[in-house]
Amino acid sequence: MPDPSTLHVSHHPAVLHKLAVLRAETTEPKKFREVVRELSWLVGYEALADVRVRPITVKTPMESMEGAQLADRIGLVPILRAGLGMVDAMLELMPTAEVWHLGLFRDERTLHPVEYYNKLPDSASVDLCLILDPMLATGGSATAAIEVLKRWGAVRIKLVNLIAAPEGVAAVSAAHPDVPIYCAALDRQLNEKGYILPGLGDAGDRQFGTGKAG
Ligand code: URA
Repeated sequence: MPDPSTLHVSHHPAVLHKLAVLRAETTEPKKFREVVRELSWLVGYEALADVRVRPITVKTPMESMEGAQLADRIGLVPILRAGLGMVDAMLELMPTAEVWHLGLFRDERTLHPVEYYNKLPDSASVDLCLILDPMLATGGSATAAIEVLKRWGAVRIKLVNLIAAPEGVAAVSAAHPDVPIYCAALDRQLNEKGYILPGLGDAGDRQFGTGKAG
């Protein structure tokens, strides 16, 4: 049973509506990418609710007032390749964020994630890292990504997904109870191949139009 204190599932009607569009097998890649972006915006908005701001003075046409400016330095870590579709929305929310790509694949022999691409800077230079991956399935990639970030020196890490499986939530929250998970839906289960049910199929293939027979 996923730990409710680390798992945040959105129940916003706009999220529910867009999820149904995203899941439908008839949704073409162009529309799919558009909805990945919109849902990322909505889930990211919730994940970023506690970032720090600093006061600034703003002069309106009427008078001066105290406004706010984002103070936390944020690193976005999209997991290649499906996480790429979430980046633009997050950058719209947090325009000063840095983007560090992380590539992980599953070794078919050991079934463990292997890092094949890592664009992290030499030293940990941010206050908050957001790992972006539309699907939290077994939790293998998410756990590996969190471990990479912790080794690198990140102290505040959040996971932003669109659809999570209970197995993935359990794996991540057992290994890293300090990492909150934000998602748009918690689905029923994984199938024997590690796909989420009911899910949406392969989030990478559906965004990039790959994986079709023939
Ligand atoms: N990755 C996907 O793209 N889809 C799943 O259902 C599970 C992992």
